[in-house]
Amino acid sequence: MHPLTMTPAINIQSVHKRFGSVNALNGVSLTINGGEFFGLLGPNGAGKSTLINIIAGLTRADEGDVAVLGHHVVRNYRQSRRCIGVVPQELVYDPFFTVREALRIQAGYFGLGRGNDPWIDELLDALMLGDKRDTNMRALSGGMKRRVLIAQALVHKPEVVVLDEPTAGVDVELRQSLWAFVKRLHRDGHTIVLTTHYLEEAEALCDRIAILNHGEVIALDTTQGLLERGIGRTLRVCVTTAAPVTGLTGKYAAKIVRQAGNRLDLQLERRSDSVVDMLDAVRQCGATIIDLSTEEADLEDVFVELTRRKKA
Ligand code: ADP
Ligand code: MG
Repeated sequence: MHPLTMTPAINIQSVHKRFGSVNALNGVSLTINGGEFFGLLGPNGAGKSTLINIIAGLTRADEGDVAVLGHHVVRNYRQSRRCIGVVPQELVYDPFFTVREALRIQAGYFGLGRGNDPWIDELLDALMLGDKRDTNMRALSGGMKRRVLIAQALVHKPEVVVLDEPTAGVDVELRQSLWAFVKRLHRDGHTIVLTTHYLEEAEALCDRIAILNHGEVIALDTTQGLLERGIGRTLRVCVTTAAPVTGLTGKYAAKIVRQAGNRLDLQLERRSDSVVDMLDAVRQCGATIIDLSTEEADLEDVFVELTRRKKA
């Protein structure tokens, strides 16, 4: 769909932004390539929405430069705006218009007239809003409004699509249909940038992830690379006796992260700790093991560890 180009989809260079005494962004540099499915993660207040608003040309950076497909977001605002569709975190809408009117007005900002109506209808169907075309925006549920905002962001067929917490407060069913839709956009060649609180979804969808904390990029890696950062895995054992396994000593005792009744969770280093040695140590305490499982660290574990480390 889109020509292969060496120009990054989004190029962010040393961006700083302050709000009074709050340092919302403190020297952020990132390059997002064409066709990537990129995740922007971080705790509340990390600066994600501020960065997205700067990319969209809605907020001005105090310092630094941002370009969308080579178009500077301030100096070439119109061109950059044409290349990007942003789904904002806040549900902003005009209550006096119907769904279709809202989309036509948005299309008008890009100089698109009625010739764009077939695409609007396609978007409405894809987002399961077909029967809400003539409904007033104020009469829609939160989830429906969210879908209209997504349609609005796509009305001019932008190459780059940025979604800021699109599934916050959305029910499971709608969330899944939204993900299916965003995946389709990605398959069709769009670059996708997503912020989300649902880390398992970022893990499932994103090729590469940046973690933002206190206005700084504290990690930038492929999703797989982040998962492999030596956070280790959890060994869960279930023993016959409800008595605590008190005999574990030294390096084995330090591995216990949770002990409740006859269940015991042990944290093992990915490379250096052996599951078999650990089980032997538990058996030597007189416990009979009746069940066990191991669980790899997921993105949530990595996220918690990285953002905690930075604070310490
Ligand atoms: P995130 O989207 O990661 O939750 P934000 O970008 O919304 O974070 O906010 C980053 C920081 O900047 C927060 O401390 C927030 O309170 C502050 N902030 C964001 N927008 C404004 C604004 N318009 N005025 C004042 N402070 C703001
Ligand atoms: Mg935000």
